Amino acid sequence: MLSPRRKTPTVWVGKVPLGGDHPVAVQSMTNTATADVEATVGQIWALARAGSELVRLTVNDDDAAKAVPEIKARLLDLGVDVPLVGDFHFNGHLLLRKYPAMAAALDKLRINPGTVGKGKQQDPNFKTMCEVAVELGKPVRIGVNWGSLDQGLLTEMMDANAKSTNPKDAHQVTLEACVESAIRSYEWALNYGLRPEQVVLSAKISNAPDLWWVYRELARRTDAVLHLGLTEAGMGPKGIVASAAGLVPLLTEGIGDTIRVSLTPAPGEPRTREVEVALEILQSIGVRQFNPTVSSCPGCGRTTSSFFQELALEVSRRLNQNMPTWRSQYPGVESLKVAVMGCVVNGPGESKHADIGISLPGTGEHPRAPVYIDGQLATTLQGNHIAEDFMNLVNDYVEKRFGKAAQHGQDVKR
Ligand code: SF4
Repeated sequence: MLSPRRKTPTVWVGKVPLGGDHPVAVQSMTNTATADVEATVGQIWALARAGSELVRLTVNDDDAAKAVPEIKARLLDLGVDVPLVGDFHFNGHLLLRKYPAMAAALDKLRINPGTVGKGKQQDPNFKTMCEVAVELGKPVRIGVNWGSLDQGLLTEMMDANAKSTNPKDAHQVTLEACVESAIRSYEWALNYGLRPEQVVLSAKISNAPDLWWVYRELARRTDAVLHLGLTEAGMGPKGIVASAAGLVPLLTEGIGDTIRVSLTPAPGEPRTREVEVALEILQSIGVRQFNPTVSSCPGCGRTTSSFFQELALEVSRRLNQNMPTWRSQYPGVESLKVAVMGCVVNGPGESKHADIGISLPGTGEHPRAPVYIDGQLATTLQGNHIAEDFMNLVNDYVEKRFGKAAQHGQDVKR
């Protein structure tokens, strides 16, 4: 069971609300050089099309800063109004003052308290960035990362720990310093004129149990909107599983108002994979529904043919392909449930639980594939065009249930 979300203010990032009663938002980050306008616009377009509701890009030098207004304008020309978040480290206070058009084009500023400056410079630099946000009415994310933790604060807390009667281990003190850095920075930001409706907090760690501890602590100590993510999750299955392990317990406890999955793409892997994984995490635990669900069995010795695997893949591929247009054409289509099963053992049962499901013949079974629609046996497919015939049935079902006629109550089966 999902717990109710924590109560927080609502932070508006462009047109996207974070926190309050609003759905947990998905965000991502580009890995193109921001100064390369063409590549960055292309990647933001792809990330937004994949379902990213906010996109962050690094603003690390003069060329990147100069490119931001052009990137925003080109995206708007393409009809992509996804909010852009500027990621600043070390020189953000300088760039934001030097390039006001860049600051104005961004929808949110990310400030890392560990990289705004060192020693005495830290507070003035942090203050400058907050002041820019106040002047422009923009929100900020105070994003602590344990890989770039404020060393002054860490030293202070380590020293205090060493002098205590019952010292904790250094790892625990580091986690506490992550929380403390986020909370103190939040309070400074409010002192510098930002409202709670303008501040998002995060404190990212690279392993799941530590992440749980840190976010439970943040949730206990503040009402701020929380950006949740496991940092440096890694590549491939490891990165995906680690991200899910980190995010799911917190999301089920109602902690987290926006998420990012930080995957390292394998060479040639699309950057959009991190968005796909984020959507799947939220969808698999029922926090949000983005796309139709395709249930398929793992297959076993009863079905040595790869036909049902190919069909399951083809059905998923076609549904994903259709979704960008289906979303506006067929409101509610994301709730569609499709089953593609390998044989009669679990096939008919699982198919009946889906809106539309097919049970393919296992090895040695009669070459017929019963199709269930809304729990009833609707037809039995056979021959060489089962995949095509089944997709036609799926398309018909979508039109009947989610199309215009259904929206006007003329042909709603359910
Ligand atoms: S439905 Fe049939 S093929 Fe699929 S895993 Fe179960 S027994 Fe095996």
